[in-house]
Formats: sequence, C-alpha cells, structure tokens
Amino acid sequence: MTERADVVVVGAGAAGLMAAIAARRTDASLRVIALDGARTLGAKILVAGGGRCNVTHHAVDETAFAGSTRPAIRKVLRRFGVEDTVAFFREQGVALKREDTGKLFPTTDRARTVLDALLRAADQAGVEIRHPWRVAGVDRGFVVTARDGARLEAGRVVLATGGRALPKTGSDGAGYELARSLGHGVTRTFPALVPLTLPEGHFLRALSGLSAPATLAVRAGGRRVAEFTGPTLCTHFGLSGPAALDVSRYWTDARHADAGATLVASWLPGTTADALDAALRDPARTPGRVLAERLPERLARALCAEAGGAWAVPGHRLTREARRALVRATVELPLPVTGDRGYTEAEATAGGVPLAELRLETLESRVLPGLYVCGELCDVDGRIGGFNFQWAWSSGFVAGTAAAGAPTREP
Ligand SMILES: Cc1cc2nc3c(=O)[nH]c(=O)nc-3n(C[C@H](O)[C@H](O)[C@H](O)COP(=O)(O)OP(=O)(O)OC[C@H]3O[C@@H](n4cnc5c(N)ncnc54)[C@H](O)[C@@H]3O)c2cc1C
Repeated sequence: MTERADVVVVGAGAAGLMAAIAARRTDASLRVIALDGARTLGAKILVAGGGRCNVTHHAVDETAFAGSTRPAIRKVLRRFGVEDTVAFFREQGVALKREDTGKLFPTTDRARTVLDALLRAADQAGVEIRHPWRVAGVDRGFVVTARDGARLEAGRVVLATGGRALPKTGSDGAGYELARSLGHGVTRTFPALVPLTLPEGHFLRALSGLSAPATLAVRAGGRRVAEFTGPTLCTHFGLSGPAALDVSRYWTDARHADAGATLVASWLPGTTADALDAALRDPARTPGRVLAERLPERLARALCAEAGGAWAVPGHRLTREARRALVRATVELPLPVTGDRGYTEAEATAGGVPLAELRLETLESRVLPGLYVCGELCDVDGRIGGFNFQWAWSSGFVAGTAAAGAPTREP
C-alpha cells in the first residue's frame, strides 16, 4: 500500500522547513512529511550571508522586492513579519543582532545555528523529513513520485523547491516543471543578485579588488528604471558588491525588453554633474586632486585616464571637452555590461509562479486546490539584505498554516 501523509512539502529549504513546521504547529494530528532531494539539508542556508546567514532585515516591506505586484507581496509579508521571524528564532534559542546595514544575523555569526534551529523546530513539531528524496513528479491527485519510483500519497502538497540559484545545493529549477505540470504558469526566470560582466580589457576590470560606493542606474526608454547605491566591487570579470548585485535583475529585465537599455555608474553618489564640473574649474586644483580627494586614488587615476588623462592640468586650463569627459567618466559612466555570471554565482532567481495564480491569504493554487506554493519558486525576488529569507519565512508560514487548515482531498 502506498504511504500517505496529510501534507507533503516538496523541498526542505528555508521556505519548506518553515511550511512544514507551521503545518504541524497548526494541527499536530496531521502527518507532515518534508521531502528534499539533497544529500545535505540546508546547504544554501549554510553558505548564505558568507556563512553567517543574513536571516532577515530590520525593515522589510514590499518595496524591496520585484516580480509579482507589490500589493500582493505585501499581503503575504504582513502575515509573518520581521518580528515573527525574530520571535521564531528566539524561541529556538537563537538571538539575532542587527548590523549597521539593517541586516539581522545570528549573534553566533554562524549559519549553522540557523539551520540547527530550523531542524530542531521541525523535529519538536513532529515533522518527518526525508532526504535524499528527489521528487520527479506530482500528479493532480497528489501522488508524489520519486526518481527511484517510490511513491507517497498526499492530502495537500506544498511546493517549496526554490529557484535555480546555486544549483549544486539542490535548487536546480526542477520545481518550475512540477508547477507547470500541475497547471501553473511560470514567468521568465533569470539570475538575480548576480555579478555583472564587462568586456575584456575594460578599465574597471584592471581595478580588481577595489571597492567604492557607487550609484548604479538602469536607464531605458529615456527614464531611470531602477537605481541602487552602495559598495561596488571591481573584479577581474566586471562588477560585484551589493549595488551591482541589487541592480543586476533590473538590468537584465530592462535589457530583455529594450536592447537600448543601459547601465550607468556614478562613483560620487549624490554629486551632480554640474557640481563636479564646477569643482573641476577651480584654477587652484587639478582633476587629480579633485578626484583623489573624493575617491580611492587607484579609481581616481583610472577614471582620469579613461577620460583622456588630464590628471595634472590646472582647472582653468582644462578644456570644456576634457572637463566633460571627466564628469562623464566619474558620475555618468556608461557600463557596457556583457552579461552576468549565471546561476552558479547568483543568490536568487527572478521569475517563477506568479502570485496572481495563488490565493494570497493562503498561497493555495487557484488552478489546483490543495496545492500550495511558497519561497523562491514564486515570482518574487528581493534585494540583498535578508529579504529573500524573509520571503521564504513569510510565504512558508502562510502556505504551511493554510495547508494544515484546509480540508483534505482524497487522492
Ligand atoms: C550563495 C547564496 C547566499 C545567500 N545569502 C542570503 C542571505 O544571506 N540572506 C537572504 O535573505 N537570502 C540569501 N540567499 C537567498 C536565499 O538563500 C534563498 O532566497 C532562499 O534559500 C530560498 O528559500 P527556498 O526554501 O524557497 O529555496 P531553497 O532554499 O533553494 O530550497 C529549496 C529546496 O528544495 C529542494 N528541491 C528542489 N527540487 C526538488 C525536488 N524535485 N525534489 C525534492 N527536493 C527538491 C532543494 O534541494 C532545496 O533544499 C542566498 C542565496 C545564495 C545562493
């Protein structure tokens, strides 16, 4: 006879574990099984935040996310907010501390603490976790089939298979096929929070290792589509660091829609072109001095060289063209991005199951009642800073709670 569970959660990452815990906490009489294809559970949690796991952010709202509509995202976030996340981990003995950036990390600075807390909470709640149990198919009667032919019958199914980022952790996009096979649409997926590449020989690549604050703005159709200010890291292939990662999905998306979309950098966030132009006119100073006062010298020299090399020319002797070139390189530098580093270096996936296909109070499928979708599999991706985990906790909680409360479907 095929084994049966009331709720089967497919994927035991951040969202799936939260969903399974929430389901059992809602109704401890239910049999809740979380399946994961990975040999090592929570591999992504362990590498997150540079091994420290940035669990959430002190101020999370829908403006930090893209994909589905903001009101829809807000509705889910409100059901399980930052305070709930903090309380959840506190109950498991994990205190979170807030850093200057607003990011919340465990006080241990170890992601392992976070994963252990989740596994402990799952165990205490009575969740059965099976792994490696790779789901190959779910039929519309909720018979869940493994690659090796094993079967499970489920009353309700929660899909929490994540996206495609860092596929070696087990999140390889298989969940999109599962969602499609059950009747869902999946919006175009592409890497988010991913380093961007510049052409070989680009002068910024020669500055590999240098980090400086910058504003990176995507322009398309004559307007600014998105802009992020923050540390920007020059690498041997292009750009990384928070601002580049944050802007990446907007650049890719804009470029998909409009081949003329551009990415422009200002290395002096907050300084206008006119203000810099005025500073460069100062007869008592050279561009070298003006720029080196405001920027790391290596970057100042590189920008100056890029603009024609007027490093030591006194301000009053600078030609208008030379000043213009300096201003452009410094605060309006067009970046000829060639692409990104792909899913192996991305921290998230843009695109997925649109929230419009789910009931927002429950994250139950509008297409197939009894099916729930949460986490990165949804068409929701957040900024750097703990927002993606917060989405996983919030949406996992909503889906798991609802799945436990919903009437059971007979397979
Ligand atoms: C390097 C890196 C660092 C990150 N750092 C942070 C951070 O500090 N803060 C933050 O907020 N976000 C961070 N993120 C993003 C965050 O990790 C994800 O958004 C979050 O883990 C998504 O949770 P999820 O449960 O939806 O998916 P996942 O965590 O990807 O979990 C999905 C699970 O489903 C399993 N699975 C997939 N397909 C199947 C199948 N067919 N059968 C069975 N199981 C399956 C996978 O094995 C996996 O365990 C980081 C991501 C990366 C890659």
